[in-house]
Amino acid sequence: MEKPPISFFAMSFVLLFVLVSLIFAVFDLHRFAFVFELGILLVLLTLAALSMLAIYHGRLWGWTIMSALLILILVNLLFIYLITGAFGTSHLTALVFSLIGLGVSLFNLREPQNEQDGMEIEEYEKAKDYYPYIDKMEPIEEPKVEKTFTPGKFVASRKANKFHAPKCDWAKRIGKENQIWFDSEQEAKAKGFEADKCVA
Ligand SMILES: [Zn+2]
Repeated sequence: MEKPPISFFAMSFVLLFVLVSLIFAVFDLHRFAFVFELGILLVLLTLAALSMLAIYHGRLWGWTIMSALLILILVNLLFIYLITGAFGTSHLTALVFSLIGLGVSLFNLREPQNEQDGMEIEEYEKAKDYYPYIDKMEPIEEPKVEKTFTPGKFVASRKANKFHAPKCDWAKRIGKENQIWFDSEQEAKAKGFEADKCVA
């Protein structure tokens, strides 16, 4: 079972405050405004569930939906303020936590830094889908292994510590200059690599 990213827990906390205070704000409304806002609330809750699910699985688009959701909530708060003139504790709480959440989301969506030691941005983004917590990984000491281009049964990247079957999607993303090939699992393990899930 993969560990969800730390920001998932931060976001769950922030979102809880946003949604609960928003529910309080909506239940303060009357008649038409209440019914209308209840509908909006259901849409927002669905979006929240969807984005949290995606974020849990380390998908970048989860943060895109989350940002859109929080912007919608901010617009909705403005709308409630405009039709009722009400601005109480619940509105303020929803406002503050939406802004915090938006900050967290945009932070997670930011362009990766160029010093991602040599990894192309695109390659890095793909890798992020596989290893959502790649940002938190400790830099791995370069394994002391000679560079070789002779294809064998298993392949590893000079920048990681796992070896893969060549058919593995992750293996296909290892740049030619970073490939290290092994003839056997034993050889790879002897050189300090761990087997990936793809190595049955
Ligand atoms: Zn693999």
